[in-house]
Amino acid sequence: CGIVGYIGNRNAYPVVVKGLKRLEYRGYDSAGIALIHEHKLNVYKKKGKVADLEEAVIGKNINGKIAIGHTRWATHGEPSDLNAHPHLSCNGKIAMIHNGIIENFGVLKEELLEKGIRFESDTDTEVLLKFIEDIYLNNNNNSLEAAVRVALKRVVGAYCILLIEESDPDTIIAARKGSPLVIGIGKGEHFLASDASPIIEFTKEVVYVNDYEIAIVKADELILKNLGNEKQTPFITTLDLKL
Ligand code: GLU
Repeated sequence: CGIVGYIGNRNAYPVVVKGLKRLEYRGYDSAGIALIHEHKLNVYKKKGKVADLEEAVIGKNINGKIAIGHTRWATHGEPSDLNAHPHLSCNGKIAMIHNGIIENFGVLKEELLEKGIRFESDTDTEVLLKFIEDIYLNNNNNSLEAAVRVALKRVVGAYCILLIEESDPDTIIAARKGSPLVIGIGKGEHFLASDASPIIEFTKEVVYVNDYEIAIVKADELILKNLGNEKQTPFITTLDLKL
């Protein structure tokens, strides 16, 4: 039930894992992380605690300056390694994490099954991801950002999602409705999280993303758009919480 993302010049893994631990109080049954290193997307996920994930990645490549991490509170599909996030699409080239519930996942899944699309997990999350993938692959000159925007117009439910794409290691795409998302603004780096607790030790400048907004987040740039593709001005607030 927590989301953390990082893009910048630091090694992303320790930032994201520490952030996930700060969100542990929200409760969860599985944890996972996706990172891009040298144009390769690596994903690790595990039923259990963040500490179990840390054990599972021993000896694995956890390098990368961009990462998204997740703690899951299962709503659709039992707690398991397979149902843990991140979920993958486009032959493992896109990773997505999600907090919330896609209420109309049943109709969307039926449409996708009719097109011959297969699912690896029992989650509502994978349905949303495959729906985004279907739009992405079937529109020429489309971008992942545009596909997310189009897909979300049909989604009923609550979500905070983060996506990264192997071919674009400089961008995290995020969106929310109902589930919270805070973006911390650093110098040449951005932090994303479900609440400010993973962010506050790095920066006090944050943007609370509004419902139905998409954030296109790069190390030194933050663009907010509504689902109509109109740019929104980020409203920066200063945290006054103590660590
Ligand atoms: N509904 C999603 C799932 O069951 C996300 C749950 C969450 O918010 O962690 O996988």
